[in-house]
Amino acid sequence: MAIELSTSIAEFPTVGPRTAQRLKKLEIKTAEDLLFYFPFRYEDYSNISNIREARHGESTTIKAHVDLIHNKRSPRKRMIITEAILSDDTGSIKAVWFRQPFLTKIILPGDELFLSGKVEGDLLSFQMINPVYEKVKSIPLHTARLVPVYPTTAGITQKQIRFLIKHALPAVDMIVEWLPSFIKNKYRFLGYTDALRQIHFPQTTKLLEKARKRIGFNELFLIQLGMLKTKYELANRQAPSMVFQEKEVKKFVDNLPFTLTEAQKKSSWEIIKDLEKGHPMNRLLEGDVGSGKTVVAALGMINTVSNGFQTAIMAPTEILALQHFNTLQKLFQKEKNIHICILTSTQAKKTNSKEVKKADCLKEIKSGKINIVVGTHSLIQKSVLFKNLAFIIVDEQHRFGVNQRKAIMEKNPKETSWTPHLLSMTATPIPRSLALTVYGDLDLSIIDQLPKGRKKISTSIVPKFKRQDAYNFIKKEIQKGRQVFVICPLIEESDKLGVKAVTSEYEKLNKEVFPDISIGILHGKMKSKEKEDVMNKFVDNKLKILVATSVIEVGVDIPNTTIMMIEGAERFGLAQLHQFRGRVGRSTHQSYCLLFFDQTGPDVLERLQAFAKSHNGFDLAEKDLALRGPGEVYGSKQSGHFPNLKVARLTDYELVRKARSEAEQLLKNDPHLNKNQFLKKKIADFTKNVHLE
Ligand code: ADP
Ligand code: MG
Repeated sequence: MAIELSTSIAEFPTVGPRTAQRLKKLEIKTAEDLLFYFPFRYEDYSNISNIREARHGESTTIKAHVDLIHNKRSPRKRMIITEAILSDDTGSIKAVWFRQPFLTKIILPGDELFLSGKVEGDLLSFQMINPVYEKVKSIPLHTARLVPVYPTTAGITQKQIRFLIKHALPAVDMIVEWLPSFIKNKYRFLGYTDALRQIHFPQTTKLLEKARKRIGFNELFLIQLGMLKTKYELANRQAPSMVFQEKEVKKFVDNLPFTLTEAQKKSSWEIIKDLEKGHPMNRLLEGDVGSGKTVVAALGMINTVSNGFQTAIMAPTEILALQHFNTLQKLFQKEKNIHICILTSTQAKKTNSKEVKKADCLKEIKSGKINIVVGTHSLIQKSVLFKNLAFIIVDEQHRFGVNQRKAIMEKNPKETSWTPHLLSMTATPIPRSLALTVYGDLDLSIIDQLPKGRKKISTSIVPKFKRQDAYNFIKKEIQKGRQVFVICPLIEESDKLGVKAVTSEYEKLNKEVFPDISIGILHGKMKSKEKEDVMNKFVDNKLKILVATSVIEVGVDIPNTTIMMIEGAERFGLAQLHQFRGRVGRSTHQSYCLLFFDQTGPDVLERLQAFAKSHNGFDLAEKDLALRGPGEVYGSKQSGHFPNLKVARLTDYELVRKARSEAEQLLKNDPHLNKNQFLKKKIADFTKNVHLE
């Protein structure tokens, strides 16, 4: 039977119901799925050596005849060991396998085998432990070549997957070559089917590289096409065109307790210009921690409100929403026409009032009396309706999913024919190539300088024997009037919110280390009211030390805090550590970041030292990216920001740039992809998952 792309794996030889079930776990159901199930690395067994050339410690492949093979019991009798002696023209070697007694039925004296693996021993007695074996044939699969290694699951072996993929391979001829041929020729890409063949069973490393490039380009090209199409479509929609309210905005800026940095001015201007356009803004404001994004957003808000529209800011945590509420109240306290409220799952509050009924708040949002709404995810709830929400800010946007960001766009009355402007903000610096791939549909504003007078945060790694010194230092800072954050890592998987670690640290500090100092505790399991109380006390300087989990990670702004002490620092990524560190150094006082660690490994100190030396979020993000990959660094794969790339590396700027420029070109000539129905269909699936629509 000929294999088709849609052939079910159940029809493959050796696949029974159990195997089919296991393959399903890997999302493999058809021949096509197998073809797109790519190796994550390769074992280079392509050099076949003589037994005499074998060297201790080297990985190699030998080609030899089996002289004898037998099973025996291990000295402690628990385990069956299979031993074989093999030889070629130059010498002989022993092969040993554990717990595979059936081998004596498969491998027989006289057979010619490839054995791939690590060689041990010396010239007198070489052996290979658990080598991969394969009977010699013209095209080996598992040995004597670049051997693909696949991600797998319990009960499915590498040999099995390779066998199945090999079996599915003829169907590759039915894969459509959808990349326009002028692009293919321009970059001398491999044909798609060749690339697919080579990525599984590469003939040479060079061909493998070409295959990866071709398949990677496909992935990136589709993403760029999808992103750009979204971008152009959005640019064709209507949004309120807001006049630049120069007087109001100027008054606001003049009343600030500081002067804006050049970078803040530039970003603010880009936002004002966007609001004017009559088409929806879709912009990302990127600025390192403490660079002052909030005030830039506020400037857009005042312009919006002065134009008679409503605006909302959505933050990922209640603590942060509350902080924004307080900040905005202060910034706008002289503005008679501004009415602000905060809305979270547990509370509703208006300017200068204690709590109000949520229902009242909702009513005034709907009537338009309240023109600035601050909130958490709860802004998305059905009950929240606006009169004319025209400018939305999503703070720490990587914390929100695609659907949440979409939902907040749909809060106006049904008959509203325009789309609101959207500003996303992030403190996570994103290298250029990544920004193009991940945020290719957004315009970018970057705040690349910190406000004047900020001192570099002195970062030290504290070895165990200096712990007491560090505590003494903390005491002194507190005596000077400063405050301290203490961050605890998650210790056990089962303790997802880190409650245990943070509680025991709190108790230790409270009872043993600083019995005379008032200490607070903050973690995700606490009720919002409790959290708010603790935060308020800390802001009012009634608590001197705040022991917290990573809930404090994003956004929190308490300038009097000058020490960030981090326990178990080795458990955090560099970008996250940078976020923590960014909680201090927000005033003109010298600030400190103290890193404690529990585990030492060769890389731990190196990583922490790299962190201590670098204060540039960009550099740290790049390092982190190389060490841990984008999904980890930028969090939440489910946020939809990170397209599921199987082969392309997001850090391959060259390839990303090419994909981008070709996609731009293609859309220029064929904006709706009407001349390219196959691509049109392909990216229709994709665009469902990008930032908007
Ligand atoms: P982030 O970009 O991390 O969100 P924030 O908006 O919270 O930073 O601002 C950090 C702190 O810096 C706030 O206390 C804010 O009032 C202050 N700030 C913002 N801009 C300036 C400036 N130009 N000069 C001095 N301080 C500023
Ligand atoms: Mg912020």
